[in-house]
Amino acid sequence: EISSFYRDSWVEIDLDCIYKNVRSMKHFLPETSGVMAVVKANAYGHGDAMVANVALEAGATYLAVAFLDEALSLRQQNIQAPILVLGAVRPEDLKIAAENNITLTVFQADWLKEARERSSFKEPVSFHLKFDTGMGRLGIKDQTEVNELLNMIEEDDQLTLEGAYTHFATADELDTTYFNHQYERFVEMVEWLPVRPKIIHCGNSATGFRFPEKVFNYVRFGIGMYGLTPSLEIKNDIPFQLHEAFSLQSRLVHVKKIKKGENISYGATYTAPTDEWVGTVPVGYADGWSRKLQDSEVLVAGTRCPIIGRVCMDQFMVRLPYELARGEKVTLIGFQGDNNIGIDEVAKNLDTINYEVPCLISYRVPRIFL
Ligand code: PLP
Repeated sequence: EISSFYRDSWVEIDLDCIYKNVRSMKHFLPETSGVMAVVKANAYGHGDAMVANVALEAGATYLAVAFLDEALSLRQQNIQAPILVLGAVRPEDLKIAAENNITLTVFQADWLKEARERSSFKEPVSFHLKFDTGMGRLGIKDQTEVNELLNMIEEDDQLTLEGAYTHFATADELDTTYFNHQYERFVEMVEWLPVRPKIIHCGNSATGFRFPEKVFNYVRFGIGMYGLTPSLEIKNDIPFQLHEAFSLQSRLVHVKKIKKGENISYGATYTAPTDEWVGTVPVGYADGWSRKLQDSEVLVAGTRCPIIGRVCMDQFMVRLPYELARGEKVTLIGFQGDNNIGIDEVAKNLDTINYEVPCLISYRVPRIFL
């Protein structure tokens, strides 16, 4: 967390939005299902510990990250809640996970064998067993391998199987054929376990929104917690209002009038069609504001203004409706009055999905928490 900064661009995270989204999901789910807050990738670019803390306050009882480093970052920021690492951890790092009470994903018998050989540790370690039901990424598919794994865990008092899970590839698509196939396969695979682990989970945000009765003990709540829809196609299936937490703000640092025929930025690709007012905004592709966003719009003085000329590493130029003061606020993502540029719009302009947009906004832009 940054307490002071010396540039005119910042991300605002409205933690109240995160709080509301988590509470709404918790209330929407059956009593027996909880919320596991997915805070990997610095909480999708929102700030890992701040988001984790507010999600826990709002009723989440488990956290999930992608890498061991991300789990350790949360521990270093004094977060005591259980944390599951969804991705692969190096076998030799089992000890570090054990020492920090981090739950790991086990997805291969071989991996556990090597982990036990290469890492000696005193503390117990908990695992969630990952089944591959059709995502094709991480997970066990074979019953013999599951038995091999269970035997290893059985043999070793230090190892506990706390959970079992899978991940859906198409929960955010209207066609539910593949989803149903994965779900049925998961139910079958869970039956392979002679003792059912305490925690079974399979659903991401889209699953929680659409099939709350199918998530078992936890929704792994990522994108929806940030107030974003898992896909445009299921936008109308979202059962409660989501509140978008992330906005990106800056200020005009230079304002000038240019003459008809004058050019703007690298390559001199933009030529003013008339005399016009132009502002310089201190955000560029090194902040994650891609060159692809040339010609897209930002909000200044409550109106949409086009980015003109190429986006540079640290700056871009915007055509203003009239003369505005240096220091005037520029909203790249978020609201100005009734006007809004949402993350979905930026994603469309970048030809990508909303998930990628806040992740792209780099460490160089300080996060401010409201
Ligand atoms: N579970 C796993 C294994 C994931 O990889 C992710 C993120 O991609 C999630 C859950 C969260 O998904 P979503 O952000 O769609 O809720």
